[in-house]
Amino acid sequence: MFCKRSVLLPTIFYENEHFMFVYDKYPIMRGHMLIIPKRHVEDMINLDAEEWESLRQLKDQALPIALKRYCGDSISYNVAMQIGEHSGREIDHLHIHILPRASADPFQEDSRKLYRNIVDRGERHDSSGVEEEVKALRKLFRYTQKKQ
Ligand SMILES: [Zn+2]
Repeated sequence: MFCKRSVLLPTIFYENEHFMFVYDKYPIMRGHMLIIPKRHVEDMINLDAEEWESLRQLKDQALPIALKRYCGDSISYNVAMQIGEHSGREIDHLHIHILPRASADPFQEDSRKLYRNIVDRGERHDSSGVEEEVKALRKLFRYTQKKQ
């Protein structure tokens, strides 16, 4: 489903040649974002040199800005990926979860719950606040939808 750009269009707020940076449609917490390659790749090991370069660029040019929005000056975050059929993945198209942490986030009491929430995505379908966040992030990145 992540191969279809149309599926992600409503939540993209930054993109470069090979990657999209999107807000999670069903965030487990405020600021839950995904970094997704445009090509169908299941394993990060299969990213080619150009794609790694795009990912590096996104890491340098977009990730710190997005994190700052949710963390302020005290950057804290978790990164999660599920790769391969035994990993608990639900979508086989590579996606990197970026989970900004804050002193008052819902997982401070037990960080293990954070991971459980990522893999139990089927049970949650709360997309409240997503539209507002995408709007704010697009403004931050001066992102305007490209044609295609
Ligand atoms: Zn795909």
